[in-house]
Amino acid sequence: MQDTPFLILGAGITGACLAHRLTRLGHPVTILDAAVPASGASGASFGWINASFFLSEPHFHLRHAAMQAHASLAAELGHDHSPQGCLWYEGQGAAFDETRTALTRLNYPHRLLTRAEIAILEPAVATPPDRALLFPTESAIDPATLTRALLAKATAQGATLITGLTVTALTEAQGRITGVITAAGPITARHTILATGTGTPALLSPLGLTFPMLHRPGAIFRSQPLPPLLRHILATPEQEVRQTPDGALIAPAAAHHQSDSSDTPPDPRQAAGATLHRLRTLFPKADIRPDRLALADRPVPGDGLPAIGPVLPGLSMAVMHSGATLAPLVADLMAAELTGQGDRPLLAPFRPARFFA
Ligand SMILES: Cc1cc2nc3c(=O)[nH]c(=O)nc-3n(C[C@H](O)[C@H](O)[C@H](O)COP(=O)(O)OP(=O)(O)OC[C@H]3O[C@@H](n4cnc5c(N)ncnc54)[C@H](O)[C@@H]3O)c2cc1C
Repeated sequence: MQDTPFLILGAGITGACLAHRLTRLGHPVTILDAAVPASGASGASFGWINASFFLSEPHFHLRHAAMQAHASLAAELGHDHSPQGCLWYEGQGAAFDETRTALTRLNYPHRLLTRAEIAILEPAVATPPDRALLFPTESAIDPATLTRALLAKATAQGATLITGLTVTALTEAQGRITGVITAAGPITARHTILATGTGTPALLSPLGLTFPMLHRPGAIFRSQPLPPLLRHILATPEQEVRQTPDGALIAPAAAHHQSDSSDTPPDPRQAAGATLHRLRTLFPKADIRPDRLALADRPVPGDGLPAIGPVLPGLSMAVMHSGATLAPLVADLMAAELTGQGDRPLLAPFRPARFFA
């Protein structure tokens, strides 16, 4: 049907960032999605950009570099990027001290706050804790909005976006991936990139590649707009929450959602009711009313860490949780690698080959 140098499967934040970057570098790109942009995890994300959560030191460095990549991307797009910062007291007791010690060793910007300082910074919080960490460089985005903005830029500069078309298989000839099969026919490509989130194992399995993923369903609660209530991203032991510029409270239904290990899909009514109750307890003077609850499966590779880079000749992948944080950096690094600028050391610990050896 068509022939394209770069074929990106998946129009979530990962595919959109990569399409934008490759297009900016002057390469023709086709991006294809089974549904509409940001219909997967990118449409149901908390959008917290941080490196205070990490699973290993290389993971920290990747996330920390990704925070800077967001600032650069915002400047490039002409978007405002003034980090609102995060007030963190999710970990308590020894867990709090361990986090503080680790982040001090890693030179991550943070400040220890007393109860009185917390009360001044966030007066609407009912019961300020006796201490919290302020992460001043952390921020949040709406991944769905950023996805659509990047795709609009990319298509304005010549990229092709195809929606509502499911890829049923990858095509292979002489050990090289040559494109895909869709209901509308085959598409050939010099290089195919899987940014297909939880749809990835089904595409790799016919090639004899088992890509393990954890089943991590999640839910995001959104309130109706409120007057200004909360300046920072707030991470308490019971609830993470932020307020958007239009006044809505955004809150994951699971506490500590980045390390949430539940594999049972939340019951929407129960999750919405429980989150609303926790938010009303946190902000008793606010008239918080529910707007909607979004459900999605987080795309978490089997060891919890991102899977980024070559799979087979002609095929690469970028599948990750914390994609809201990582996608702009991953796109910059992958675009450099895909266009022959050499391997990027930051990605070395996260190669998909660790699953296929
Ligand atoms: C509840 C929740 C909270 C989160 N909070 C945060 C957070 O605070 N900070 C953070 O950094 N990250 C967070 N994340 C994770 C982050 O949102 C994801 O890592 C990120 O959105 C993944 O983006 P993606 O583009 O890789 O995948 P997705 O957005 O899932 O996109 C994959 C796309 O591929 C398409 N696709 C799949 N298979 C096929 C096929 N065969 N043919 C064609 N198209 C296909 C799908 O239709 C989909 O549009 C959260 C996720 C959830 C669910």
